[in-house]
Amino acid sequence: MDTLHELSELFRTFPGVGPRQAKRFVHHLLLRGDDAEQLSALSLRLRKNVTRCESCRRFFGKEGAFKKCRVCRDESRDKGTLLVVARDIDLEAVEKSGSFRGYYFVLGGTIPILDAEPEKRVALKELLARVEKSAADGLKEIVLALSANPEGEHTAETIAHALASIAKKHNIKLSVLGRGLSTGTELEYCDAETLKSALKNRT
Ligand SMILES: [Zn+2]
Repeated sequence: MDTLHELSELFRTFPGVGPRQAKRFVHHLLLRGDDAEQLSALSLRLRKNVTRCESCRRFFGKEGAFKKCRVCRDESRDKGTLLVVARDIDLEAVEKSGSFRGYYFVLGGTIPILDAEPEKRVALKELLARVEKSAADGLKEIVLALSANPEGEHTAETIAHALASIAKKHNIKLSVLGRGLSTGTELEYCDAETLKSALKNRT
């Protein structure tokens, strides 16, 4: 495979990028050498300067020796509620809406319907460990905040099923976002008001 083809195949693995767009990216880089250099330099720096929060699992820019992100380090937040989201971008949307004061857990993706190995798609084991740890810290409720589409709903059901026994053991309530989200809504595109009402009306 030549480099042109190889790079275009790499771009194709990016979310939402099809074969034609992948080729356009490669041509853009061929025409703009400075962008190509910046892209490779930034990609390398990304691996070096960004780390995963050991508590919520989102990525954050390294700040000294901190192993937890800013949100997870904030002791003034409500230890009683844990909001489970699919991606970093969902956490950021909820955080930006200012409607939630508890802590988060990022699954790292969603589970496709009929998928045989959900634990390879999302951080299920890590979530169970987190809940076990947080139970000792006063966790009272886990809110499943997944997108209102079939894959999001399937993910919420799978997670709820996996959490059922640990939740029962520690007397933790499991809830899902309320009806404020219309069907098909991706969490990351929700406005602050919709998120606020979905959180308030969780069931
Ligand atoms: Zn965190």
